[in-house]
Amino acid sequence: MDQWADVDQYFQKNLLLQNSIFDSVLMANRETGLPQIDVSPLQGKQLAMLTRIHGARKILEVGTLGAYSSIWMAQALPKGGQLVTLEIDPKHAEVARKNVHLAGLSDVIDVRLGPALETLATLQGPFDLFFIDADKKSNPEYFLWALKLSRVGSLIIVDNVVRGGAVADASSTDPNILGTRRLIEMVGREKRVEATAIQ
Ligand code: SAH
Ligand code: MG
Repeated sequence: MDQWADVDQYFQKNLLLQNSIFDSVLMANRETGLPQIDVSPLQGKQLAMLTRIHGARKILEVGTLGAYSSIWMAQALPKGGQLVTLEIDPKHAEVARKNVHLAGLSDVIDVRLGPALETLATLQGPFDLFFIDADKKSNPEYFLWALKLSRVGSLIIVDNVVRGGAVADASSTDPNILGTRRLIEMVGREKRVEATAIQ
């Protein structure tokens, strides 16, 4: 784990800008006591680059927390682009809105408070890119909603599918593992998508 962190630090130091808005957002999240489960800075940059490479204009995120990942993706959108992000926790949504304001992205990022499965039923697609990163037990349902709200060529990204290795444990009874395993197996059988997974 130490070696993993050293390597991450090395890449980060060389490839990412210092003192950016992203550092301020992480600091605000820490100060308000949000759990530190945001994507890593390098992963945030990867999301931003995927947004650009894909030419995404409309993004849907499930699981906002402090909007760290939302801001990475939103600042990579072209003019007129839009990102909708779903959050169940009022405190998280409040911190997220403040961070979005700080990043000057209030016109681009729409933080919707409520259980994602309820909000999803009210949304109008298609979205070009999805980032699914909320309660892992509902991953199969989120994936089905993403399919419904997608177009041919949409990109669906699901975070945290390795679960510290537990995803390969067929005897697990943890709802988050069961949800992730159901997702992976559902995606594997789904003829309309092509998929891979990265550890
Ligand atoms: N995408 C963020 C991290 C999200 S953490 C980032 O990388 O910066 C997961 C978030 O999902 C938490 O804020 C949690 O409150 C939210 N969440 C959990 N269950 C949810 C649900 N049913 N609907 C919407 N959000 C949910
Ligand atoms: Mg995550």
